[in-house]
Amino acid sequence: MARRRLVYEGKAKILYEGPEPGTYVQYFKDDATAFNAEKFDVIDGKGVLNNRISEHIMTALTGIGIPNHFIRRINMREQLIRACEIIPLEVVVRNVAAGSLSKRLGIDEGTALPRPIIEFYYKDDKLGDPMVTEEHIVAFNWAAQQDIDDIISLALRVNDFLSGLFLGVGIKLVDFKVETGRIWDGDFQRIILADEISPDSCRLWDVKTGQKLDKDVFRRDLGSLTDAYSEVARRLGILPEGGKGGKAGPKLVH
Ligand code: UDP
Repeated sequence: MARRRLVYEGKAKILYEGPEPGTYVQYFKDDATAFNAEKFDVIDGKGVLNNRISEHIMTALTGIGIPNHFIRRINMREQLIRACEIIPLEVVVRNVAAGSLSKRLGIDEGTALPRPIIEFYYKDDKLGDPMVTEEHIVAFNWAAQQDIDDIISLALRVNDFLSGLFLGVGIKLVDFKVETGRIWDGDFQRIILADEISPDSCRLWDVKTGQKLDKDVFRRDLGSLTDAYSEVARRLGILPEGGKGGKAGPKLVH
């Protein structure tokens, strides 16, 4: 069998050329990195969980008309996606103060924000993904003002939907990061969601206990990352209650 062409290897995922033009295969690794890759570990099973959780979320977003690159899951670690031209920005949406916002502005972690706050970071590992403003984005031609407006409305729709989805299973969506890309329909371009949405890219806190169910478990050495991600998957109804097999529905939390 011919070997697949590697398109790009990132910290947590690999992109291969897909079976048809305009598609890629996105492979989820078990590698975990934090603090711009200064902290590194291989966490058995993380890739499988993120592949499944991201599939679940992207499929739900498609269901409410939010365009994204997900086509279908191929196997435990791979999904078929639509190739798009990645816009070099990390788009962060915050509902509750945490992480770098708390540090930068001296706001206690857990403080509810008066409204969702969107931030942009320029994707460049060498520079440590610096925060940028809309002025930088337009001036340096990373995206046009119209693209930024589309990205903001996309990000806010995702935030509203995901906040509700997670709250329904007893999880608070504190903040998350998305990436976007362009696809072309003839002369018209559309912005779609790309990358992944998983506990690697969200902060998820148990509503009752405040327990962290996201990558902060790894960043801050708070216990087993796969236990935390499995709990998210279990509550979303994509891991059966307490074991393998079966098709449990979402767990209702009263
Ligand atoms: N985030 C991410 N990738 C990054 C940086 C941040 O997925 O390279 C996510 C992170 O998991 C959190 C949100 O974006 O859900 C906001 O992260 P923050 O700016 O607080 O940075 P951190 O504390 O992770 O350095």
